[in-house]
Amino acid sequence: MGILEVKNVNKRFGGLQALGDVNLSVAENSCHAIIGPNGAGKSTLLNVLIGKLIPDTGSVMFQGQSVLGRKPYEINQMGISRVFQTPEIFGDLSVLENMMIPIFARRDGVFRMHAYENSVNEAEIVDQAETMLEHLGLAEQRHAHSASMSRGNKRRLEIGMCLAQEPRLLLLDEPTAGMARADTNNTIDLLKQIKDERDITIAIIEHDMHVVFSLAERITVLAQGSPLVEDTPENIKGHPKVREAYLGE
Ligand code: ADP
Ligand code: MG
Repeated sequence: MGILEVKNVNKRFGGLQALGDVNLSVAENSCHAIIGPNGAGKSTLLNVLIGKLIPDTGSVMFQGQSVLGRKPYEINQMGISRVFQTPEIFGDLSVLENMMIPIFARRDGVFRMHAYENSVNEAEIVDQAETMLEHLGLAEQRHAHSASMSRGNKRRLEIGMCLAQEPRLLLLDEPTAGMARADTNNTIDLLKQIKDERDITIAIIEHDMHVVFSLAERITVLAQGSPLVEDTPENIKGHPKVREAYLGE
């Protein structure tokens, strides 16, 4: 049994079968990549996992509990945290202030943050946020305006903000999209470090094969809404069906 079990998930948009009988099992503490050509259904699947879409049929179990019908914030509280394709940091706040947000939220729920401000020992939150920034290699920039950071460092901060929620499963949607090679390699290194240091499961949707082959232990190839093959990176490379789906051979 994987930490995440997707069984026979189907999702239609009108006449279009976006997901057809998707089965996926993600092993605990592994890094599992989902790849596939444009329109394969990757984002639709991710949206099902985080509660933004409800499938027509099938089940999604996380740590033995169904996520279907739960609100995105409830799924987040179950231990699933998602890094979005576009940066989700607050550009007007400093790096440190951004890092403090999920730490506040974890303690008392984001909606009660304001009420909490007066009673909590803010120094303690600052302390935890600074420790996290040190870990991310962003300590020197803690008082910088977040908007002024490089794309790679914004992504680094954002991944750190997700980690501060202490998720069991980290979902990443093309985390290196639009990045220069150096920033991409930095992001790969950070994710490798996270894998090594934490008990965490990572599921990553990614176009960039360099990223996929650097990180993933298992790869599921989606094509036209259904899993085509699932295997190790070694076996996926050069797999005739994968070449066909990607290159039209
Ligand atoms: P991928 O992320 O792999 O590129 P998507 O999951 O975004 O693919 O899309 C899968 C298919 O479903 C595509 O043909 C897309 O046009 C269609 N699709 C996605 N979302 C919607 C929607 N909300 N309404 C109608 N069609 C959609
Ligand atoms: Mg997509």
